[in-house]
Amino acid sequence: MTLFDRAKKVIPGGVNSPVRAFGSVHMDPIFFNKAKGCHLYSTDGKEYIDYICSWGPMILGHGREDLVKKAQGYLDEVLTLGLPSDVEVTMAETFTRATKTDMVRMVNSGTEATMSAIRLARGYTGRNKIIKFEGCYHGHSDGLLVKSGSGTLTYYAPTSLGVPQGTIQDTIVCRYNDLADVREKFDQFKDQIACIIIEPIAGNMGVVIPDKEFLQGLRRLCDDNKALLIFDEVITGFRTRYGSVGDYFDVKADLYTYGKIIGGGLPVGAFAGSREIMEKLSPLGGVYQAGTLSGNPLAMKIGLDTLKVLEAHPEIYEKLDRFAYELDQGFSKNLSDLGIPGKVTRFHSMLSLFFGEFDQIKSFDDVQKADTELYAKYFQGMVKEGFIMAPAQFEAIFLSDAHTEDIIEKTIQANRRVLEDICK
Ligand SMILES: *Cc1c(COP(=O)(O)O)cnc(C)c1O
Repeated sequence: MTLFDRAKKVIPGGVNSPVRAFGSVHMDPIFFNKAKGCHLYSTDGKEYIDYICSWGPMILGHGREDLVKKAQGYLDEVLTLGLPSDVEVTMAETFTRATKTDMVRMVNSGTEATMSAIRLARGYTGRNKIIKFEGCYHGHSDGLLVKSGSGTLTYYAPTSLGVPQGTIQDTIVCRYNDLADVREKFDQFKDQIACIIIEPIAGNMGVVIPDKEFLQGLRRLCDDNKALLIFDEVITGFRTRYGSVGDYFDVKADLYTYGKIIGGGLPVGAFAGSREIMEKLSPLGGVYQAGTLSGNPLAMKIGLDTLKVLEAHPEIYEKLDRFAYELDQGFSKNLSDLGIPGKVTRFHSMLSLFFGEFDQIKSFDDVQKADTELYAKYFQGMVKEGFIMAPAQFEAIFLSDAHTEDIIEKTIQANRRVLEDICK
């Protein structure tokens, strides 16, 4: 019996998160038991180049020796206390400095972070309605599972079963990059909107880049209507620069949610903002939020080590930018040389390769035109070549410091061979 057969008996779909099922690329999932640098090792003895990097957290590569050595030391100290620890304070100091926020609360996942940030925004403003954008994914809490991205796009389940109508009646969905749409909703629901939540660079419908005027316009609309702006930076945070991507657009949010990279590979999320808003949280204020493993000492130490490396080595970001640029150029050239319809979207080191005919890629409607069957063929071809990319069209490519110039070049060559094969 294969691992997948065993898995299917005891885990729904054989996986602990839907996109791992490889359903949209018509394959059985591959199981792994080891990772080192930018290499993954499957249980059937194959080696792959990793372009998922655990969906971002492994930005420094798997098993970096200095970090592993430190982590081994931590195991002798403490795993979890359920009581305050020194490292939580150091993490909060480091994190708030980096993200230019006053206060942060640590949680265990991005889902928890966005769910808590929204409760806080509602508690702070005394309003119920929230605005989110089509194609943006903010975790799987009830009120946010409306026209969301990532696995929910792949499986065409924009609204999950089990989400009561009552929960989503306060969720207003707008079009990404469409400021007029948002303005209209503010007029329609005057003084009822608690917050806007947005991925400042969308990463969960594939990479979709906001117009600067759009993000700045959201800021203004929130100010004019006394609503809060929440940047969900679970993907973008510390990914293309040390801290928030809002700085590229000169836009500050009122609340930020983080996850992925800040845990260095352990389960972590965080939400942060100004003292005035954050002090509404229990035990100071009336907005309740808690967690047995929140601020887990091991996760804090390992996350902090990752942040320290990123802060001390800004050249890592330059390198990732360059690699992403080279992939962008290489893939684009291959597509046009071979006459295959497709487009690369890229913001610094965040990029996606979309198959299909596009005038522009600015919103969920645009990415809907993607040819997911072509992507499935491409994915299968790349797996045969020894590369693991996101097993779905509507995701980003993730790079790490462990990738090398040589590997980037090999990737572009493999991309070419696979595209040629698709043409046949
Ligand atoms: C991954 C992600 C989440 C959810 O984080 P989990 O840790 O998977 O719960 C939320 N928002 C964004 C933008 C994400 O990319």
